[in-house]
Amino acid sequence: MHGSHITRADFLDVLLDKARQLEIDIRHHAVVEEIHCGSAEVVLKDGARIQGDVVVGADGIYSKTRDTVLNQPCPPSPANDIAYQATISRSALKALNAGHLDELCSKTKITTWLGSAQHTVFFPVRQGEEYMLVTYHTHSAPPAAAVVAAAADGLSQMQALHQGWDIRLQTILAHATFFSQTTQHTLRTLPTWTNARLILLGPASRIIPSYQAQDLAATLEDAAVLSTLLGLLAHYNPEPHLLPRLLPEILALHETLRKPAAVQAVQDGLLSRRVLQVGHPVGQALRNWFLGGAGITRDTDAGWLKLVSAQQEPRLGDGLLGETRARFEAWRTERLPLLLAAESRSSAGYGIGRKRLRCWTY
Ligand SMILES: Cc1cc2nc3c(=O)[nH]c(=O)nc-3n(C[C@H](O)[C@H](O)[C@H](O)COP(=O)(O)OP(=O)(O)OC[C@H]3O[C@@H](n4cnc5c(N)ncnc54)[C@H](O)[C@@H]3O)c2cc1C
Repeated sequence: MHGSHITRADFLDVLLDKARQLEIDIRHHAVVEEIHCGSAEVVLKDGARIQGDVVVGADGIYSKTRDTVLNQPCPPSPANDIAYQATISRSALKALNAGHLDELCSKTKITTWLGSAQHTVFFPVRQGEEYMLVTYHTHSAPPAAAVVAAAADGLSQMQALHQGWDIRLQTILAHATFFSQTTQHTLRTLPTWTNARLILLGPASRIIPSYQAQDLAATLEDAAVLSTLLGLLAHYNPEPHLLPRLLPEILALHETLRKPAAVQAVQDGLLSRRVLQVGHPVGQALRNWFLGGAGITRDTDAGWLKLVSAQQEPRLGDGLLGETRARFEAWRTERLPLLLAAESRSSAGYGIGRKRLRCWTY
């Protein structure tokens, strides 16, 4: 990690290490083919059946779990935006011996170039040993005309898109390695994220446009809220036969807590694209004036994170988890006694997240 940036692959390794420490049963390359919402059971492609307390559908943009939750196909819609990603190592940049890149490469924060219908971000990853370059480009033609090209074409497309731009950017692109090309997608606001003991998480439930680079951060917040709620419920050690009634309520509580922020984040993301990629000169002057006011100019880079962080601040940390605990407490006071009063406690005890039921597939 360098500054606040980490690649998806590195972050996945961090999560896997933690999961191994917690002795979670990890099934590599397992494919879920069937999900039973009521019994929280999944059936894998190899026929294995796994039953848990809840099923969390964190299967990304093209989620099939989403279809199960809604009882109908609900695919995302391709947008007219493509994200091109390229990488270049620090050593490759140094080998160029290009003095005009020194200042750029000494930065630990994000550098952004803004243009009509396109913007590009450049930032260090892997302890500054590598740089990531991402171009968000809005096509006027339907996406079908611009979809997945061969890897070599991707880099030449990136180069073509930056003709006449900052010479430093052109130099980097001339030596970068193409990484990926992704058509961006949108998703309508779903009527629900849950069905009995099944819940959607992250881009399976909403797709936050990439322009603020906040989707994964929001997904981690989703995970923090959900695990806090389940942990709080487990603390009350409810009897097993109550779980089919309690867990759907807890999952619905999670949706209530997270959906408004998700809807807002989608709107913020789309607004960011309009602001960053405005084409009209008057609009561009206004944008530059606004960004300048937020501390973002050609000569500074600190303001960018300040702007993004300022928007995120109220949602992160103790504020969010404090609110989660308060909402759980309100639910517990109102609902739990009603359910528990009718039943006597089992001396055997029961905990959510019993080791044998904690299973990840990926
Ligand atoms: C170009 C691009 C740039 C981005 N940049 C940023 C950024 O800078 N900052 C940021 O915060 N976010 C960014 N994002 C968003 C970020 O990638 C997502 O928020 C994040 O990947 C969501 O994680 P996830 O685990 O929910 O879904 P995914 O990462 O999509 O993972 C879903 C997993 O589910 C698995 N799966 C699917 N179906 C099944 C099945 N039937 N059985 C078993 N497994 C299955 C898939 O194989 C996959 O491993 C970017 C996204 C894109 C496309």
